[in-house]
Amino acid sequence: MKDFEDTLAALDRAGLRRSLRMVTPLNGGHVVIDGREFVSFAGNDYLGLRRHPDVCEGASDAMQKYGLGAGASRLLAGTTPIHVALERALAAFTGRERALVFPSGYQTNVGVLTALADEHDVLIVDALCHASLIDAARLAKATMRVYPHAKFTRLRELLERYADRGKRFVVTEGVFSMDGDIAPLAEIARAARDYDAWLILDDAHAFGVLGEGGRGTADHLDVALPQKSLHVATLSKAAGSQGGFVAGDGEVMDVLINRARSFIYSTGLSPACAGGALAGLELFKEGSRRQRLAETATLARKLLREAKADLPEGETPIIPLLIGDVDRTVKLSARLFDEGILAPPIRPPTVPKGTARLRISLSADHTDDDVERLARAVAGAF
Ligand SMILES: *Cc1c(COP(=O)(O)O)cnc(C)c1O
Repeated sequence: MKDFEDTLAALDRAGLRRSLRMVTPLNGGHVVIDGREFVSFAGNDYLGLRRHPDVCEGASDAMQKYGLGAGASRLLAGTTPIHVALERALAAFTGRERALVFPSGYQTNVGVLTALADEHDVLIVDALCHASLIDAARLAKATMRVYPHAKFTRLRELLERYADRGKRFVVTEGVFSMDGDIAPLAEIARAARDYDAWLILDDAHAFGVLGEGGRGTADHLDVALPQKSLHVATLSKAAGSQGGFVAGDGEVMDVLINRARSFIYSTGLSPACAGGALAGLELFKEGSRRQRLAETATLARKLLREAKADLPEGETPIIPLLIGDVDRTVKLSARLFDEGILAPPIRPPTVPKGTARLRISLSADHTDDDVERLARAVAGAF
């Protein structure tokens, strides 16, 4: 087939061609690739719950009772008792009136933004927002404006400029996925309040990780989210399962049930995933994994800095090792791979041009030894 040869050749030339490899998970954040064991810094299983017996049992119990698949879209016959239980638990956890689960976090963002923002509205999005938010904003009929990463003064200017629009939505992440930094949420929430805009917070990387009981970025920073806000997160990272959710006022949830096409025209979240997520949420109450994760992140930052790696200040389990050049980034990743360490190169278009990096993602499962190995392996590369 000739049709796509040029596409692939262009990716090859730019060093941006990617491919899949088979990865067999082991316990403790380790994996097997081609018969060799690696310590993996490539996952988002922050609390190590993906293989936790309670999570697996929660999934298999729900599966035995309700089936592996939901069997229908949620509005038809796909809302089982485990969906209802999970949504109640998520509403209670986030302190919001109601919650709605989707088959993935990506679908949640697409559904929320396209259903709520129409052609009279404007979506004001942080420049480093996750692809699912960018795609969602592009797909929505509303005008999309982007403000430079975390620059809330620029956000305020845009809010001022679009003050006469129907509805205005400010879209941010709590913890940014490729930089691991925390949004200035107090200032962003104040801006949204001052201009009577909606705040949409995607807390995918903070749910279960930051704040009391893992309640997320707002709790961590002690910021009260405005009434006009929605809390989005994924069940696929710290909760150890799969799926996404949004929490907020009941009225908004009713709009989503009626208007969010990615919710309506997709089979409901698998009951197994709902059961697993519910068990994961229950485990958030145990602080020890979160504590361990925070200690590991502190140790990793210290050792990586001693190894002269270029990393920004931070406190989350996501640590970017900034390199810039794509070629050098790929080579360093390959060198680590030779030493039994999986740390994937993150290249454009996932991150802006000139900011290629290794993204180190930590888990409560990593041992001090795992982190020391990583630091030794990157030493000399910077
Ligand atoms: C991972 C991620 C998502 C997507 O969640 P999935 O459940 O994996 O589809 C959405 N938003 C952000 C910020 C993410 O990091």
